[in-house]
Amino acid sequence: MIFNYQEYQNQQKSNQQKSNYNNNSGVGYFSLPNDGDEAIVRFVYSSTLEFDLANIHRLQIKGKWRKVNCLNDAYSVDKCPLCTSGNKAEKVFFVKLIQYSRKEDGSIEIQPKIWERSCKYADTLNNLFTEYGNISDCIFKIKRTGAKGDMHTKYDIMYASPAIYKPEIYVKDFSSFDNFKISDYMVLSKTSEEMEELLNPVEEKPTQNNQPSQPTYNQVQPTQEYSSNYNQQQHYPNQNTIQQTTPQTPTIETPRNPYNTTQPQQSYNNDFPGATPRKTYNF
Ligand SMILES: [Zn+2]
Repeated sequence: MIFNYQEYQNQQKSNQQKSNYNNNSGVGYFSLPNDGDEAIVRFVYSSTLEFDLANIHRLQIKGKWRKVNCLNDAYSVDKCPLCTSGNKAEKVFFVKLIQYSRKEDGSIEIQPKIWERSCKYADTLNNLFTEYGNISDCIFKIKRTGAKGDMHTKYDIMYASPAIYKPEIYVKDFSSFDNFKISDYMVLSKTSEEMEELLNPVEEKPTQNNQPSQPTYNQVQPTQEYSSNYNQQQHYPNQNTIQQTTPQTPTIETPRNPYNTTQPQQSYNNDFPGATPRKTYNF
């Protein structure tokens, strides 16, 4: 039998479309960017118990703003290092919906979306439940009033008549959300330890970088004792230690110079103040 490449390709394409449709990573953010923009949607909730509310922190990780779970809850207020650090937690409602849009060929496309709102929207949607019952059976139109950046922007959620938005065309299909979890895709779940690392990302690197410099710093210490100890008896042991360290010191040239073993006895008694060697050191 001859391999029918065309048929194979069509089959692949169709499979791909199916898998795309069920692919939970295809969930995007819902937005109406401009004044007057509107969208036809269906909320993916048949009960208020299914609302996706989360307590989150916003912080930059590697230059990108991310949402991270808060570890505190009603029973504990000191479990979350991000809260402790002063980063205020925020209650967010990740509203799951499907957006219907008409394609060029007239067919209706379904796109799974997350509408990130403040937790006040739990009241808004709750009111819709009170008014219309199971809202997953209804179609709504969301309309934006307010220009880009307008702090008073508001969204009206209006009931859309099934006589116009026919259910057989605006199909109730939530399969895109089947394996979708807010906690997996929208919010990073971090442990207390991981949060500490996020808060002090600089610590690790500097300690590593400082490790080589710490020993050299220690080499400097003898000089401090040196300048503060006036007795020759104490001075000599210091000299020894300095001599011992000399093989390592080549990295620091300036500090070493005042400590040439021959110098101390002369400069020591004369211009002891010791300030000079110290100063050079501090530089
Ligand atoms: Zn927190």
